[in-house]
Amino acid sequence: MTTRRTFLFQVVPAAVAVATLGQRANAAALKELSVDNSPAAKALKYVTKSTTAGQTCDNCKQFVASNKTCKLFAGYTVQPKGWCKSWVKI
Ligand code: SF4
Repeated sequence: MTTRRTFLFQVVPAAVAVATLGQRANAAALKELSVDNSPAAKALKYVTKSTTAGQTCDNCKQFVASNKTCKLFAGYTVQPKGWCKSWVKI
């Protein structure tokens, strides 16, 4: 039987460890987004260095800071100071 104490101190940390390892494995398989390897990035005018004042990937609602990815571009990492036309204020 799993007690509440066992759950909190053994099951939860184990689940977090598995999730963290999974994220690291996924990060290793990700490619850096560029307009050369993604037609969508090209269509959305993605750039690795924003020239739009106050708008960068790291302050966009679509950015996932934990692995530097964007919800719009599965399988890719983006530059935190990058930008594209789909930028959304957090
Ligand atoms: S949607 Fe946001 S996080 Fe994604 S590439 Fe565009 S600006 Fe960057």
